[in-house]
Amino acid sequence: MIQEARHFETDLAVIGSGLAGFAASTFALNRGIRTAQAGNTGAIAYTTGYLDLLGRVNNEDICPVNPWEGIRQLAQSQPRHPLARVPETDIRAAFQEFTAFLSDSGIIYNAPGPLNATALTPAGTLKPTLCVPATMQAGVDALARKARCVIVDFKGLRGFSARQVVANLKDTWPGLRAERVLFPDMELGEIYPEVMARALEVPSHREALAERIRGVIDDAEVIGLPAVLGMHNPDLVMAEMQRLLGLPIFEIPTMPPSVPGIRLREMFEQVFPQKGLVLIPQQKVESVVIKADSLQLSLADNFGPVTIQARAVILATGRFLSGGLTAAFDGIREPLIGLPVTQTASREDWYHLQYMDKRGHEVHRAGIEVDEKFRPLGENGLPVSERLFAAGLILAHQDWIRGRCGAGVALASAYKAVEAVQEMLR
Ligand SMILES: Cc1cc2nc3c(=O)[nH]c(=O)nc-3n(C[C@H](O)[C@H](O)[C@H](O)COP(=O)(O)OP(=O)(O)OC[C@H]3O[C@@H](n4cnc5c(N)ncnc54)[C@H](O)[C@@H]3O)c2cc1C
Repeated sequence: MIQEARHFETDLAVIGSGLAGFAASTFALNRGIRTAQAGNTGAIAYTTGYLDLLGRVNNEDICPVNPWEGIRQLAQSQPRHPLARVPETDIRAAFQEFTAFLSDSGIIYNAPGPLNATALTPAGTLKPTLCVPATMQAGVDALARKARCVIVDFKGLRGFSARQVVANLKDTWPGLRAERVLFPDMELGEIYPEVMARALEVPSHREALAERIRGVIDDAEVIGLPAVLGMHNPDLVMAEMQRLLGLPIFEIPTMPPSVPGIRLREMFEQVFPQKGLVLIPQQKVESVVIKADSLQLSLADNFGPVTIQARAVILATGRFLSGGLTAAFDGIREPLIGLPVTQTASREDWYHLQYMDKRGHEVHRAGIEVDEKFRPLGENGLPVSERLFAAGLILAHQDWIRGRCGAGVALASAYKAVEAVQEMLR
């Protein structure tokens, strides 16, 4: 293939294609900011599809209560937590705008409400979350009213067991039962959620699957399935399956990599370029040069080297899993720009002795510092550049796993970063 160097000039470049990067690009496009985005494959393919705002404060479960009240408590106990630094109205607006964009782009989500919903995890435990895809809503409703429900899984599918879901929930949800069927045309050997989801885009596969599920419905009022209801048209696939079976259906996330996360990624990769965003997908930015009037990003894809010159950059490269932070014997680093990382004085203090220690582990709170405009700070405590902003899990002072606040941190900080970019560009 002949390789050709390409150069783009833009107002904003977003680095990273997790929820924070996609949210930043969404907010920027909605504000008419010329945007380019480059991001390697990352944690979004692992997400359940649930958008969590906050599920735990100070190591106490607050499920299912008011996450907004939780954020007020957080502001008292952890004032440097990114969610404690964003006004409640902005967090609401961020969730509202992002879920509206998802719904308009082909994956319907509920708008943020006043309370957390209680949703099912792949293992059949429960978790608090704020916004769920429409394909999972009937599960939240059925659990709340303890409807008679059959959870169906498939022979050969690893990482999702209807019997495990039922065993974990039986005490609180007595009307729950498990069944196993063969997935049409995938009766032998191991089968994979992504392949099943793409197969269900085809009407004849839906009809064949409905025929098999019909045989195990018995007296159920609602049917739960692993999240395999289509890749690009999940709401249509669900509606068609409901029409064929005559009952409400819901999806339960599977173990990663999960279809709901891949759905989001593929949807953004399709919709953003249609809206005028320059997208360099599945590639890593290799360097960022900060100049007085712009920042220059360098990377390469199959077509050759790419440079992006941007008046502003939002760094949304995530944590260790996605490569936004790296850990070595002598400390934790931000590898792309070399930003200082707030961390414990010694590696000895990264972890408590017990893995399940209720206080969590300090290593999960490491990250970069930002000012009130979400601009990363240098060693001297001042912004590294007027033009550099950061969003998402790379930020310090949050442990998103324990706090169950992954999407909350990502959306709220992306919203504020884009607001500050817009102000700077003016
Ligand atoms: C197993 C699992 C389950 C989860 N479940 C939930 C859930 O149920 N609800 C919820 O709200 N959240 C969940 N999350 C968290 C959620 O995925 C994150 O909150 C969300 O993706 C926001 O993270 P982020 O965008 O800051 O970082 P990430 O998602 O980690 O994305 C960072 C991106 O930056 C890219 N990147 C890194 N370095 C470079 C570079 N040099 N150049 C270009 N790109 C780069 C990475 O490839 C990646 O695309 C889950 C995460 C995991 C891992």
